[in-house]
Amino acid sequence: DHYSSSTKPYCWNCVLLQAQNELLDYSGIGISVLEMSHRSADFSKIVNTTENLLRELLNIPENYKVLFLQGGGTGQFSAVPLNLIGLKEDRCADYVVTGAWSAKAAKEAEKYGKVNVVHAKLDKYTNIPDKSSWSLNPSASYVYYCCNETVHGVEFNFIPDTKEAVLVSDMSSNFLSRPVDVSKFGLIFAGAQKNIGCAGVTVVIVREDLLGKALKECPIVLDYQVQAGNNSLYNTPPCFSIYIMKLVLEWIKNNGGTEAMENLSQKKSSLIYDVISSSNGFYSCPVDVDCRSRMNIPFRVGKREGDEALEKLFLDKASKLGMISLKGHRSVGGIRASLYNAVTLEDTEVLAAYMKEFLKEHQP
Ligand code: PLP
Repeated sequence: DHYSSSTKPYCWNCVLLQAQNELLDYSGIGISVLEMSHRSADFSKIVNTTENLLRELLNIPENYKVLFLQGGGTGQFSAVPLNLIGLKEDRCADYVVTGAWSAKAAKEAEKYGKVNVVHAKLDKYTNIPDKSSWSLNPSASYVYYCCNETVHGVEFNFIPDTKEAVLVSDMSSNFLSRPVDVSKFGLIFAGAQKNIGCAGVTVVIVREDLLGKALKECPIVLDYQVQAGNNSLYNTPPCFSIYIMKLVLEWIKNNGGTEAMENLSQKKSSLIYDVISSSNGFYSCPVDVDCRSRMNIPFRVGKREGDEALEKLFLDKASKLGMISLKGHRSVGGIRASLYNAVTLEDTEVLAAYMKEFLKEHQP
């Protein structure tokens, strides 16, 4: 078990320590990656190794390009329609809207074509509408969904079967937390900053036959064909962020790959959901059980709609114990435990123990 605390070589900090170690002198060449030309042989090696690691970890088929772009997940909300909405004449796309991020993506796509939300509008984001109720438009250029809604804690544990339609998914907050059958998708994108590195770089995995169909107004840096043709070096890429991603991918590989990340994420999230479900309603998670996220667990404290004073106390005490960033997103309130790849089982056990202790002290 690579995750026991006794296996220090696999601790998350080793990525940061390696980056620190190499900060002034990368691999004996006397300069930092921060100083390196993106056209140098040394940087080419970094990009190629990063791409190969991704291909290996996700078993990416050869007819897919891997791109490293700037602009974040939000940049892809524009890039996806700019590149793909013109695949079919009608310039229309199907969107499944299950939370804040897919809602934003759908709104952005409306600038470039017609957006069909495939199900009745949800008044709160706590479930995935039953697939049998989706009305997919046969002339849509693609079907879009967000695999893990970071704010609302709603995660797809299945890949929607969209038959012939090109499937596009935002995996920004659960990328590389489990194996994925890439061949089922036309395009997958993910910002690096949650599970595979730091802010600044976004991974796009796109099937080759979808390239070259961009709208003429597509900015050149967002044009997948241009970036693919230039090995993501059409313009200066986020070099240091790509290098950090390389270190994280090596870490994931050394820790057993995507299967191990999945196993770990299931163990970690079960620990927290178990405390919630055995708390007699003191803690409550609004999300339907079958789509509860392994990555982001939103919950309220005290009563179903949340006792804000008690939640503040929960956060203050947690912070004193060194547990930070537990505040829920401002649009939903309450608490949110994010359990990305870098959060260890031990970290999660500490949180679960704290939740049990807090329950004992404060239950009515
Ligand atoms: N998609 C998802 C699922 C996210 O969680 C986020 C950010 O948290 C985004 C997109 C937006 O990413 P960015 O801030 O890199 O633009």
